[in-house]
Amino acid sequence: MARSGLNEQLAKIQSLKENFHKEIEACTNPREIEQVRINYLSKKGELNQLFSLLGKVSAEDRPILGKKLNEAKNNLNDVHKQKLSYFAEIDKKKERIDTSLPGRAPFPGSQHPITQILDEIKEIFSFMGFEIAEGPEIESDYYNFEALNIPGDHPAKEMHDTFYLDSGMLLRTHTSPVQIRVMESQKPPVRMIAPGRCYRKDTPDASHSPFFHQVEGLCVDEGISFADLKGIISIFAKKMFGEDVKIRFRPSYFPFTEPSAEYDFTCVFCKGKGCKTCKGTGWLEISGAGMVDPEVFRFVGYDADKYTGYAFGMGVERIAMLKYGINDIRYFYENDYRFLTQF
Ligand SMILES: [Zn+2]
Repeated sequence: MARSGLNEQLAKIQSLKENFHKEIEACTNPREIEQVRINYLSKKGELNQLFSLLGKVSAEDRPILGKKLNEAKNNLNDVHKQKLSYFAEIDKKKERIDTSLPGRAPFPGSQHPITQILDEIKEIFSFMGFEIAEGPEIESDYYNFEALNIPGDHPAKEMHDTFYLDSGMLLRTHTSPVQIRVMESQKPPVRMIAPGRCYRKDTPDASHSPFFHQVEGLCVDEGISFADLKGIISIFAKKMFGEDVKIRFRPSYFPFTEPSAEYDFTCVFCKGKGCKTCKGTGWLEISGAGMVDPEVFRFVGYDADKYTGYAFGMGVERIAMLKYGINDIRYFYENDYRFLTQF
């Protein structure tokens, strides 16, 4: 083959390279790149067809043409690889931020079971005309004990293992101080509940926690009797646990009520038949109640001859445990996601 033949071959290689570059450049996805590769770089592709002409050139020109063909082959392969990795990089970025995917909704959260029960208790008593009162969690001995007819050496103080602060103040052991504060600030009639946190030096176990919630209720007016107290507790029991729940009162003692009683609800688990939770009695102990001791009225300046009143308390954790069938009070404070998301 003449020299002009070589030039012709070299021109073919050059134009093949140019075409390949143009086509690869125009590719918009890996599928199109693959098609270009097949056209140019596969066994039957255009480049291999040029290689097949090697045998037809003179022995003198063959190394020149071979070298050019190999250069072209390397160049085409490099350009092909570059373009592919360009798309792979885009894919990676898309994986990182794929704006076409629907957004992942954040977990909306839910109210803590104690908050839910507190809200329910507040709603029931608000419905019955009780106002909601709040007071400080750091209290003086006067409000937490003395004004509730629990003087300095009173044995009832020992029932309340109290956290004392260096200042002589204390963490309230019940929400009863709020009753005193309300009665000090307003004349009868009073109809209020005091929900809130309380503290006692209890060692945590399944039914005790040094931190817990209480709701105390107080009603003072002319002609208030124990029958009113029973009525209110009975309505609360039915609204919280269902229409067939019965209540009973057992005589008890509290320094700030006279007479005093513990009140029970029929067991919510066995409906009064007797089970393990109620120890076979059919009853569940809820809390204490009674008629306000006239001595307490003396502390707040109410006329004990004119007014009578009742007070009652309840542990919010206790109500929540009965309502939801929870057997360990510590679950409420462990912040265990698996527990909390059930409510
Ligand atoms: Zn039972």
